[in-house]
Amino acid sequence: MSDTIEKLKCLIIGSGPAGYTAAIYAARANMEPVLYQGTQPGGQLTTTNDVENFPGYPDGITGPAMMIELQNQAARFGTDIRDGWVTKVDFSGDTHKVWVNETKEIHCQTIIISTGASAKYLGLDSEQKYLKLGGGVSACAVCDGFFYRNQEVVIVGAGDSACEEAHYLSKLCKKVTMLVRKDEFRASKIMATRVKNTKNIDILFNTETDEVLGDGQVVTGVRAINNKTNETFEIPVTGFFVAIGHKPNTDIFKNFLTLDKTGYIINTPGTSKTNVEGVFVSGDAADHVYRQAVTAAGTGCMAALDAERYLAAKDSDFEISTPVY
Ligand code: NDP
Repeated sequence: MSDTIEKLKCLIIGSGPAGYTAAIYAARANMEPVLYQGTQPGGQLTTTNDVENFPGYPDGITGPAMMIELQNQAARFGTDIRDGWVTKVDFSGDTHKVWVNETKEIHCQTIIISTGASAKYLGLDSEQKYLKLGGGVSACAVCDGFFYRNQEVVIVGAGDSACEEAHYLSKLCKKVTMLVRKDEFRASKIMATRVKNTKNIDILFNTETDEVLGDGQVVTGVRAINNKTNETFEIPVTGFFVAIGHKPNTDIFKNFLTLDKTGYIINTPGTSKTNVEGVFVSGDAADHVYRQAVTAAGTGCMAALDAERYLAAKDSDFEISTPVY
């Protein structure tokens, strides 16, 4: 148990582009935000090599460098950025309660959830090795596909994401080989048909990844296995894309917030509002469709503005700085 309960106007949980953007806006609106970074400070972008599609970086920037810039920008306006992991919440009463690292208790007038989602990976050692090296493993075709122009790649998965990403990659790459573990797609008919009708996409059903092959630095191929015949074979590629789904990091909120069946937080359309007053959501924790750094940043801004307006309506001592339309 904590000795003293800290009271905050605004708590931001998560340190991806959504969280830091919310922090920049909240700090500039005198909400004195505290931001807890979580276990992966910087979020998913810290596992991305080069970011070339975030406006304002004409020469591109590495994911970790961009997150440091966002962090510095949030700190410049006074955001209190802390290490720590929110382990429990209680949104049942008028006061929103949060516990950090099991012990520290915080009472918050507003909370902005920016806990993101984690891409699922196969879990093979070789996959994780080249992911960490930034050497050819990716879970985001839109982010990284460009680096494989005119090259050959493999993509694993059979859902709508895999089909959408395979189609996206087919426009950039010489050839895309899709590994589908069953004998059918999970994706909607229209998405599956589009992939089947794309000339440079080769679909291998009943096929799984046995090993990601490489030279110690970068991916050079994939050893695949046909799970019906147990035959293994190698596919020479420079890129290995994984599109087997995402898991939103929302488990701690499930007893209080309305989530969809996958665990994404359901917000009021066009706003960042959740079903609990004073609790807002931004970024991938509520977005299974766009999942981009720039859209996460946009919703971070929305959440801070929504929180500011909520605070102004609730707390007569708090003066709103942005106009309400
Ligand atoms: P899904 O959960 O729908 O699909 C995941 C796919 O990955 C499944 O085909 C599954 O195979 C496969 N898979 C899981 N684990 C492994 C593994 N270890 N090895 C090989 N394959 C594996 O995730 P999505 O991200 O595709 O979609 C999530 C949601 O978002 C869905 O509701 C989807 O409809 C929606 N979406 C909609 C889009 C659109 O409408 N434009 C675009 C993208 C997503 P199996 O089938 O064998 O279980």
